[in-house]
Amino acid sequence: MSDSPHTRYDPHEIEASRQAAWRERDAFRTPALADDQPHLYIKPSAPFTSGNIHIGHVRSYSIGDAYARYRRARGEAVLFSFGFDAFGLPAELGAIAGDLPPSEWVDRCARHMTGQLQRLGFSFDWERSFLSSEPAMYRWSQWLFLVLLERDLIYRGSGNVDWCDNCETTLASIQVEPGGTCWRCHGPVRLIELPQWYLRISPYLDENDERLAERAASGKWDEVALASQEIVLGRVDGVELDLAGDEGAPLTVFTPHPDALAGARFVLMSPRHPEADRWASEPVVRDSLEQLRTGGWERSAREAETIPLIDTGRVVEGPDGDPLPVIVSPLVDSRFGATVVLGIPGADHADEVIAARLGLDTGSPGAGTDAGADDVLSAVLDARGADARPAKRYRAFDFAISRQRSWGTPIPIVYCEGCGAVPLARDQLPVILPLDLRPTGAGNPLAELEEWVQTSCPRCGGAARRETDTLDCHFDALWLWVPACVPPEAREDSLEEILALPDLRHWLPSERVVAGSDSGNFVFDQRIITKALRDIGPLAFLADGEPFAGCLFHEMVISGGRKMSKHLGNVVDPDELVARYGADTVRLAVLYAARPQRSLNWSDSAVVRCNRYLAQVWEYSQAKLGEAAESAEAAVAGPEAGTEPERDNTEHLRLRLAKWSATAVERITADMDSLEMHSAVRNIMRLFDLIKKFEKLVLERQPTLNAANRAALLDALLLHAQMLGPFAPHLAEELWIALGGEEHGAQTPWPGVSLRIAA
Ligand SMILES: [Zn+2]
Ligand SMILES: [Zn+2]
Repeated sequence: MSDSPHTRYDPHEIEASRQAAWRERDAFRTPALADDQPHLYIKPSAPFTSGNIHIGHVRSYSIGDAYARYRRARGEAVLFSFGFDAFGLPAELGAIAGDLPPSEWVDRCARHMTGQLQRLGFSFDWERSFLSSEPAMYRWSQWLFLVLLERDLIYRGSGNVDWCDNCETTLASIQVEPGGTCWRCHGPVRLIELPQWYLRISPYLDENDERLAERAASGKWDEVALASQEIVLGRVDGVELDLAGDEGAPLTVFTPHPDALAGARFVLMSPRHPEADRWASEPVVRDSLEQLRTGGWERSAREAETIPLIDTGRVVEGPDGDPLPVIVSPLVDSRFGATVVLGIPGADHADEVIAARLGLDTGSPGAGTDAGADDVLSAVLDARGADARPAKRYRAFDFAISRQRSWGTPIPIVYCEGCGAVPLARDQLPVILPLDLRPTGAGNPLAELEEWVQTSCPRCGGAARRETDTLDCHFDALWLWVPACVPPEAREDSLEEILALPDLRHWLPSERVVAGSDSGNFVFDQRIITKALRDIGPLAFLADGEPFAGCLFHEMVISGGRKMSKHLGNVVDPDELVARYGADTVRLAVLYAARPQRSLNWSDSAVVRCNRYLAQVWEYSQAKLGEAAESAEAAVAGPEAGTEPERDNTEHLRLRLAKWSATAVERITADMDSLEMHSAVRNIMRLFDLIKKFEKLVLERQPTLNAANRAALLDALLLHAQMLGPFAPHLAEELWIALGGEEHGAQTPWPGVSLRIAA
């Protein structure tokens, strides 16, 4: 082997040179709209501007980037970009800890994280990236708020929130310590009732449910993603009965246990049920319900053993004629939504606990039969006639979208003494968030900023005060997948103009969202909002109301079987790994180590293994290229006198190599189509072993490689470099060029594909 500087694998030199070339040719700019070219939008997750890229991000973006590069290598136009999720608690806490205004903190984080992602060589279109905290972006939240408010899909309600008296602030659940104390002052935390803005998702739960079967049938939603949607939905199947009430009007109750109706001992009603006030009309009962609703219960009392129960003193006639007491309790909500259910102690443990607390007899028969579920259901329906029907309930329910925090999208509402809550007109957007806020964790600095709070009423012109709650960043996430489709030059246009752009129709729905398995709630609510905006009009072109045609949810990176945390000291720092091994190795290792749908239990051995492989690929390929150059020189000098051309007894080996290569292309292509990256990586490594094996077998028969064998070997190495492109893009492109490939576009072409060279 010669000692030329290129024979030793130096990832830092290779990666710097490739990244400079990509910047130079603007390789990852989103291609212009062209209907004759297949195209797709791959949606990566939107990272919180929390400070640093962690190894979980590296896993997520390595999967998405490999897929994006693969589809480009097939000749497709790819949109691959994201926005930072920059509002909300993580940024606010980071700003408090860093003693900076949140706006500065998130800018600093976004710059740093962008640098880290660029060093890793991810092929995002950076020109389209954005921060959700930019006014041109958060006006999307404000616009969406007004549009949904007009349609009654946002409403004013009241809800329980965690509250610290010392800090005079509401707390997110992660700010409440396990013992029920405040993260900041360690004082006691109470549940209090506050008026909140709610998002009404209930009208779209049925459709989200029904369309899940289509998602599954498409084959583009993996099992983790599908399961997450079912979990968020929380569907329970059962039967609905109309039971006669003691004052005439019947009450419709639900139970998932049609086989145990005779065991019913009470009826449990959600305090949010529309008929709760009618049933709890006795003055004493009404007071208890009011107290429950205004936060008079302990934060810890969330289990069946301790949750409040309010006996309305009323009864309904049970399935077998016995009177059943009607009890109001929030226990229903977390299990079946805002409904009424039969309490059947023999069929359900929580019901057993409640019956014991109510002093009801539970030791009766009635639970369970040996008949099949369908038979039981038909028997119930036959016996009860018009008073019974199959039914389902969802645990998913409307949720609060407002927070008493300053670092978030201002809600476009003002309160006027004469007119009440008045929404601003759409052309008055955006309501700008003051940038000089300094949250400390106490109070709400936005509410204390009088010059911002005081305004005039858009309806009567009189004095008014702005809404000082802001939108939870979960609300921003509802639209966060859309602006990547907007060309940067149109970003400041009015939202009406933007929504009419052909770009949205071109790129949406996203072909694939690639995100962590904890993103189920985001995706669920994004699916709801897409259906709402389809019906309202702006997204009418998405007939099924689905924002994502495909969905890949990957699991976490863990260490020693446990979640990584600073506290446990088991955090893997991607920057250190990149500094030591290079970006290609780190990217390859996270793909190699586990299927996306499995947790990746970190071990350095995957990195060492992948680094050794890439070094071998580099050094072997360079050596073979060097030998080819030497032998070409020798051929020009002419054959040595007296040497006879050897008889070629290796043709069958070349055929075998061709077959190995063809099989590898077939398998790896199938792996990439189904995003089985770990399998693709293993098959690529296998191909490299077979290429070396071919050379060994030839050299067992002949002293040197003849021209045909050398050409076959280099062809196979070229093929190998092409397929390595999506995983180790820097090294692969450098090899591709060295082996005679042409440098252009976003990605080296996939075997068998000839990419059009952009003019
Ligand atoms: Zn506190
Ligand atoms: Zn007014």
